[in-house]
Amino acid sequence: MNNCLFCKIVSGEIPSKFVYEDEKVVVFEDIHPQAPVHLLIVPKIHIASADDIDEENAQIIGHIFLVAKKLAKDIGLKKGYRIVNNCKELGGQSVDHIHFHLLSGRQMLWPAG
Ligand code: C5P
Repeated sequence: MNNCLFCKIVSGEIPSKFVYEDEKVVVFEDIHPQAPVHLLIVPKIHIASADDIDEENAQIIGHIFLVAKKLAKDIGLKKGYRIVNNCKELGGQSVDHIHFHLLSGRQMLWPAG
């Protein structure tokens, strides 16, 4: 999508170092890490937010969780991790291309801020 930051990262227009890539997603380190491990799992197709998931594109969500599980295993996050999706303004979403944060390396707190 025109002018979408994460579409530009996916396409390579904005250079980024991917820690993982397959035909459906890219994964890179968050530029403002909130934990010792803070990765962003981003689908290659443009979906604006979780509110834009539908029957046609919903399959990508399961794939993203499988990628998160694989990365957690590869990195050695044996003690656990958190997967976060912020949806739209009140959810705290700042980039309007759906993405999932994979956070670990410290004790996560609840409730989230
Ligand atoms: O959930 P939210 O939309 O706020 O997450 C966007 C994330 O993208 C932020 O954690 C921000 O640090 C990250 N980001 C990034 N690289 C950019 C712009 C934003 O890693 N160029």
